[in-house]
Amino acid sequence: MPGVYISYPFCAQKCTYCNFASGVLPRQLEVQYLAALHHEIRATQWQWTPETLYFGGGTPSNMEPSALASLIGAIPGNPTESTLEAAPGNITLHRATAWHQAGINRVSLGVQSFITHELTRTGRKHTAQIVEQEIANLRAAGITNFNIDLIAGLSGQTPASWSESLHWIERLNAPHVSVYMLEIDEDSRLGSEALSLGQRYGARDIPTDDAIADFYESAVERLARLGIARYEISNFARPGFESRHNLKYWLREPYLGFGSDAHSFDGADRIQNTELAQDYVIDPAPQRTPADPVAERFFLGLRLSRGIEPPFTPFEAEIEKHLASGLLQQTGTRLHLSPRGVLLSNEVFSEFV
Ligand code: SF4
Repeated sequence: MPGVYISYPFCAQKCTYCNFASGVLPRQLEVQYLAALHHEIRATQWQWTPETLYFGGGTPSNMEPSALASLIGAIPGNPTESTLEAAPGNITLHRATAWHQAGINRVSLGVQSFITHELTRTGRKHTAQIVEQEIANLRAAGITNFNIDLIAGLSGQTPASWSESLHWIERLNAPHVSVYMLEIDEDSRLGSEALSLGQRYGARDIPTDDAIADFYESAVERLARLGIARYEISNFARPGFESRHNLKYWLREPYLGFGSDAHSFDGADRIQNTELAQDYVIDPAPQRTPADPVAERFFLGLRLSRGIEPPFTPFEAEIEKHLASGLLQQTGTRLHLSPRGVLLSNEVFSEFV
């Protein structure tokens, strides 16, 4: 069954590493945006009842709980998994209880690090102790399924500080963890500062690529020892806690996106709404492009640890090449990335586009 994604691009601050179409936007725009979301949802002819619902952004946890409940009420049925992305800092028991009552049963926490000086450089204001208290609030409210996002490669990160962040995962008994490697590009303030060899935002203290790869690999090993296995390049879960919603993206199942920069897939075409909230409130202006089912089966399916089953046409030559280079491996009939291939996945995926 398909999923629903709702984008909420409003944030309390613009984090230095963030390259999403989100940020600090006027309050009046938020009001218009909520109205536009309701309008887009109401205009939908539902051919199915959603199995999953995912609020991303942005910081949808900053939305008034009543506004969140009203959006959930506009979606047909009762999704099995309803996730809310949340920024630590204001998750009171009262707020978490309101989310749970509205139907949220999974929270994805943008923690990024448990080390205060690393967080300060990103623009975040929470601490490890705040995260600990807020996870207790979620659990007390009945939300026991949660994800913790971590970033490998933050400015000032060291093997010892990374190890401490991983230690917190163990301490908090997280059922799901996402580990992203820092992306350096022109679309974030930190990225563009690093590319221009500046020093703002701690750009000079970004760990080297090799150090970031080591952090990532140490996370893979340590999480595996905790029973939190990698099931996708950046995603790790205890058995049964894999994100049902996000699995749809890699398994090419349909989903419907609402809001600015939201993407949809109807099984044949990929559709993308206009990127900026200020344009979206005037017109979502969806752009439709045909999907490429053959190539997508490879570069999306190979993101998953389980990999893909044959047939491997029309890419037999490319696959032979990377079986020989050691970036791909076969287990039984299934084809998947090797541990080194996970780190160099873009090199492999570029063969399929
Ligand atoms: S990282 Fe998250 S909270 Fe920070 S600006 Fe980007 S979307 Fe907002």
